[in-house]
Amino acid sequence: MHLRKAARVILVGAPGVGKGTQSERLLQRFPQLAAISSGDLLRSNVKNRTPLGIKVESTMKAGGLVPDDLILRLIQNELSQRGWLHTKPNFLTLCSSDLHQPDMSSDDDAFISSAHLVQPQPKADPSASFLLDGFPRTARQAENLDNLLPINLAVSLHTPVDVILERISGRWVHEPSGRVYNTGFNAPKVPGLDDITGEPLVRRADDQEEVYRERFRKFEETSRPLLDHYANKGVLWEVSGMCSDDITPKLFAEFEKRFC
Ligand code: ADP
Repeated sequence: MHLRKAARVILVGAPGVGKGTQSERLLQRFPQLAAISSGDLLRSNVKNRTPLGIKVESTMKAGGLVPDDLILRLIQNELSQRGWLHTKPNFLTLCSSDLHQPDMSSDDDAFISSAHLVQPQPKADPSASFLLDGFPRTARQAENLDNLLPINLAVSLHTPVDVILERISGRWVHEPSGRVYNTGFNAPKVPGLDDITGEPLVRRADDQEEVYRERFRKFEETSRPLLDHYANKGVLWEVSGMCSDDITPKLFAEFEKRFC
């Protein structure tokens, strides 16, 4: 299906709600969409030992949030590299020698000064359509992103917490490969063993009910101001369903209505 307007979308939903499944289906249905994941970008910087990667490594290992200026720099760099930001100099840049696209190898001070001096403009072309995963995570990040490239649809995905918990309680993983099974609808051929290697399957530590409930509580707490931010901008759309297959057709219909 062809997009006629640029779709700049974020998906927000509790852990286990199926954001990954919906992203994959959207990318298949709308090939002009590209997915950008803040977690993947950060991991690749850590792996490649970039200055930013070295800076954020310990925070990520501890499960904390990376500081806003760093994550914003990363996203801005990614959007610029894809050619989706028109950076127009504002009056301040006319007397600055520092007129360049931010670059991951430049040091922080150079980045911060150039970020303040340029006024990026969104590209209306539908080929500049994307789905952001993991960013923005807080209302402050959302405000910063709006100054860079305003989101025009924030999708909030809902599934009752007990339904998610039931789904998670049936989940088993083969750790070396990342293959995931579910005793409810995608059971391994031999209970407890990986189909390909025959090795044992394990439960993920964060799939335990108590651990999950805590992650859910944290998500609710931080996502509320984020969703309020988008509601105030008039771009929030909420969708509920008991499973991914309930949600997908509603999501497709909304995309078609808005962007096709
Ligand atoms: P998870 O959903 O398990 O947190 P992600 O792949 O989205 O995994 O992120 C991995 C880590 O990267 C996070 O724990 C956090 O340290 C960092 N991170 C990702 N996105 C952001 C963000 N928007 N703001 C701050 N830190 C982030």
